[in-house]
Amino acid sequence: MNQNQAEIKCILFDLDNTLIETRKADTRVCEKIANELRVKFNVTHDEANSISSSFLSNFRKCPENTLMSLDKWRTYLWSQALGDKYQQYAKTFSPIYNFPWFFVSESLYQNWLYQRYQNLAMPDELKSLLETLRMKFRIALITNGTSACQWEKIEKLHLKDCFDLILVSGDLSYEKPDKHIFFQACELLNVKPKNCLMVGDKLETDIQGGFDAGLSATVWISRNTHYYLTETDPKPDYILSNIMEFKYLIANLLDMENMRDAAKKLQDCSLYCDEDSACAGPSFSDHHKRMFSNVFTLDEDSNSNASDGS
Ligand SMILES: [Mg+2]
Repeated sequence: MNQNQAEIKCILFDLDNTLIETRKADTRVCEKIANELRVKFNVTHDEANSISSSFLSNFRKCPENTLMSLDKWRTYLWSQALGDKYQQYAKTFSPIYNFPWFFVSESLYQNWLYQRYQNLAMPDELKSLLETLRMKFRIALITNGTSACQWEKIEKLHLKDCFDLILVSGDLSYEKPDKHIFFQACELLNVKPKNCLMVGDKLETDIQGGFDAGLSATVWISRNTHYYLTETDPKPDYILSNIMEFKYLIANLLDMENMRDAAKKLQDCSLYCDEDSACAGPSFSDHHKRMFSNVFTLDEDSNSNASDGS
């Protein structure tokens, strides 16, 4: 951002893998379910891992089937993941636990659902940051994904009251990177694109879309420190390694806008620095070091461009 850019009035956030660590949480939860299969249902180590991995893979490919409820679809995915070997016990009972296998998929799903939202919950520190940002800015959530899946997350994680506006692409006829979803957010928030900042983890949707819509700046949350932008990648204005670093960036931007009072407010809310650490956060130049390098490696599971919305 340069001194000629317009004042920031609104911050647009992506959800999955930006505010919540969806991919990491889903992987962690499926490991727990595999353990449940081993301990509770006496499934072998390799088979348990295979069942859990199969569910996660199919769930990510198709998180929702509009012909049925989320509960029914996910229970079906667990029953598919259990496979023929366990399907044949559907009407019999486990000799060890006297447990009908027919209900195993339902049991796995219910535990998966509970564990998922335990692991997806936003830390209090991040909720406090959003609250403080809202004292100065309008803040919005723009998320790609199916309507039922995304709204389930929003409701179960109690995010509704954290934002001035929430847009789910599944409810609309366009999704990021289509600039119209950004324009719709601006119109509903009564701000101009040049007064908005986009924060997201996915280059081709959050960053490219924000650029195409003419937003003031884009902030890329790149958790994979081994990924370097290539010549053809969309170029974010700022790069952060996690969402909590945003408090330093926004305080710095407010300083650049000569809005030191607002920056001070962030400090006063104890968000600008941790109690036991120095107040000076990472400088922008630190984060720009990784930009425009020709070298990159890709870790699929932590790849910032991994699909979202599951
Ligand atoms: Mg995302």
